[in-house]
Amino acid sequence: MKALVYQGPGKKALEERPTPVITTATDAIVKMIRTTICGTDLHILKGDVPTCLPGQILGHEGVGIVDSVGQSVTTIKVGDYVLIPCITADGKCEYCKKGMYSHCVNGGWILGHQIDGTQAEYVRVPYADTSLYKIPRDVDYDAIVMLSDILPTGFECGVLNGKIQPGNTVAIVGAGPIGLAALLTAQFYSPAEMIVIDTNDHRLEIAKRLGATSVINNENTKAIERVMEITNGRGVDTVMEAVGVPATFILCQEIVAAGGTIANIGVHGVKVDLHLERLWSHNITITTRLVDTITTPMLLKTVITQKINPNLLISHHFKLDQILEAYATFSNAAASKAIKIIIEV
Ligand SMILES: [Zn+2]
Repeated sequence: MKALVYQGPGKKALEERPTPVITTATDAIVKMIRTTICGTDLHILKGDVPTCLPGQILGHEGVGIVDSVGQSVTTIKVGDYVLIPCITADGKCEYCKKGMYSHCVNGGWILGHQIDGTQAEYVRVPYADTSLYKIPRDVDYDAIVMLSDILPTGFECGVLNGKIQPGNTVAIVGAGPIGLAALLTAQFYSPAEMIVIDTNDHRLEIAKRLGATSVINNENTKAIERVMEITNGRGVDTVMEAVGVPATFILCQEIVAAGGTIANIGVHGVKVDLHLERLWSHNITITTRLVDTITTPMLLKTVITQKINPNLLISHHFKLDQILEAYATFSNAAASKAIKIIIEV
């Protein structure tokens, strides 16, 4: 089968690989229909994720058809259409029993990281019964792919941890796929103001179409002053950090209102200053989380019934044969205007 393989920092190739087989009784083999590329895949390619070794097939998102199952798989059947979440869960460990699948002692984020991933014609998914989600056959597969990672990540790490309430003011720093997914799902709670801050005008335009009440290009405009104008000098009740660099986390600390929450979503590679000399008395909550995908069944219903429409997050379509071109497009988002890229397998 064809598969996109990480070959060490800066190197990848579309290779011919053996089709995966069941190795454990709880496995399923899934024939891929759609997959996509994540910002995390670019981090791996830069060499930022040393736990991902050369030779790994990348990808932790997608939709497919179950091709075979191990002897002890009971609820997932051959021929089922399934969503593959970015997090694998054994369903039995201490963390899984708390709903914290991200820290499953036998799973967590392993697909396309520590085991072969979804940017291939087939993928082996461990703990199929507790990891895969069945989907109807006649759905918009492109939209469903957004549920593997970005929608639950934006929702769990940003919206739920950010404790968004009706009438609240919300700011999202970073209008990449995750920030936009948080924007889309924040609307379940009817916040009054949703301010999106980024340096890319195209992404800010998409944010407006997805429901942002104000957008701020913080390359041209002083974001702090503008947020204070919008909020009558209070700051925002919830600010989500969806970039993962020190400057944006510091911006969050500047615009959070007293009693507010800073919900971190970004993947941080270096330490960040925390201005406790000012925030200590402001009743601030700071949250961090790796997506658990525990809200995926709920989000799946909202996408299937078109309560939310994630298609605006999809900017490009490629075939698996063109995946190197897809990577080039995705990694040059400023020029290509890429947000999420669908790979048809
Ligand atoms: Zn577990």
